Amino acid sequence: MKPATPDETVEQLRSALGEGVALISDPDITISYSRDHALFAQSALPLCVLLARTTQDVALAVRFANEHRIPVVARGAGSGLSGGANSMDGCIVISLEKMNQIIALDEVNQVARVQAGVLNLDVDKAAQELGLAYLPDPASRSWSTIGGNVATNAGGMCCVKYGVTSHHVRAITVVLASGEIVELGKATKKSVSTLDLLHLFVGSEGTLGIITEVTLGLVVRPKPAATMLATFPSSTEAAAAAIAMMKFRPSMLEIIDQTTLKAVEAWHPLGFEVAGAVLLMQMDENHHQLERALELCAEFSMIDGVSSDDPADAADLLRVRQLAFPALERMGATILDDVAVPISQIAELVRRVEQLGINRGLTIGIFGHAGDGNMHPTIVYEHGDITAAANAEAAFHEIIAIAQELGGTASGEHGIGSIKSAAVANEISPTVVEMQRGIKKLLDPNNIMNPGKKLP
Ligand SMILES: Cc1cc2nc3c(=O)[nH]c(=O)nc-3n(C[C@H](O)[C@H](O)[C@H](O)COP(=O)(O)OP(=O)(O)OC[C@H]3O[C@@H](n4cnc5c(N)ncnc54)[C@H](O)[C@@H]3O)c2cc1C
Repeated sequence: MKPATPDETVEQLRSALGEGVALISDPDITISYSRDHALFAQSALPLCVLLARTTQDVALAVRFANEHRIPVVARGAGSGLSGGANSMDGCIVISLEKMNQIIALDEVNQVARVQAGVLNLDVDKAAQELGLAYLPDPASRSWSTIGGNVATNAGGMCCVKYGVTSHHVRAITVVLASGEIVELGKATKKSVSTLDLLHLFVGSEGTLGIITEVTLGLVVRPKPAATMLATFPSSTEAAAAAIAMMKFRPSMLEIIDQTTLKAVEAWHPLGFEVAGAVLLMQMDENHHQLERALELCAEFSMIDGVSSDDPADAADLLRVRQLAFPALERMGATILDDVAVPISQIAELVRRVEQLGINRGLTIGIFGHAGDGNMHPTIVYEHGDITAAANAEAAFHEIIAIAQELGGTASGEHGIGSIKSAAVANEISPTVVEMQRGIKKLLDPNNIMNPGKKLP
């Protein structure tokens, strides 16, 4: 029998989905669903884009895709930084953006049941009305979705104290590659009745199933944080101070290197001309201990330090961190790494990445979540320069190798997507590679769920 043309396949899918479903096949529109924010990740035009409204829509589309062996890519907001949501030639993109409802907020049990396309910040705002909070705070929280956050196990600034997304997910509804719908986890705070299949799906980047609903744990809203900013002669001293700061239980602990500070100064002078590095810390309890923290910083050659528990001052002090990435982006095209190392290795990571930048003639700014050892070395090169882009891409992989040599990992929070899976093989044993492949084969025997992503 003659295989169906792409147009015929779209029409078959449309009739499988039934009336009223938004299925887009106009390439002028579908191209805007074909990639995320990772500059050098490959992508291609999808066959079509489904704007799903219900779990049932997702299930029908996945069942159809499985029967016809068509790849499926789940998409939240496309804010990813690893090419995870990038489409491949002829795939079906299932966008969860229209599934953006908070289904229930339970004040007594401190949980929220939400559709996967709801924005992270919207959950927190709704929780705030009850005096509660949804804590995981990726910098993209005003536009990334809970489904995308769960699928990448997103982190953020407050993870140093409150953990990453996985620590706040209680239960999920997932559409498997077969089109079956399953519930994993429980809304209860504790549950050990089954193998922890819930957390197998957290961070699986759309390769095992499509998450359509999520039950999130909320907490009593922490008090507004007090903030400390300290400057140091070098990243080595700032990193050593960061380790010492951990005993204060910071709710945020960030480091910014000199290259990044220079980029910020060139754009918005904030007074960091002589600083070799900045350490920023917040504490949402025991504010009085910030003075003690500053005294301790002095033992690590601190140049200058300030602290305040006034939220207005906090906004000023945090400005340098908010400007870090955009300031580097202003200087040219950027590739952002996301390595994580043991916190004791941050200084060595910074030293070796700086040396790499010198060796390769590249500007590499380094900033990140010092308290988690999760750093974002950002390589800057000239827009449109193909040789420089290749040099930057090689440096991107070398930074991962350096982190792995220091006992770290290729990705702390942004995910593996389509650009780091080969590197992951260097940090896990062949047996673990095979275990992962076995799980993938069991759950997705026809390899339709985001093929070519995440797994080495
Ligand atoms: C300026 C900026 C700042 C950022 N800051 C942070 C940060 O601080 N911390 C951090 O961790 N990340 C950060 N990110 C990266 C990104 O925002 C996160 O990875 C986020 O979790 C992605 O959510 P999304 O809805 O955009 O997902 P997408 O980018 O659409 O998808 C990400 C991955 O999840 C899969 N996926 C999406 N939805 C589902 C679903 N419902 N079911 C199954 N799989 C799904 C996709 O297939 C893809 O593999 C930042 C990005 C930008 C651009």
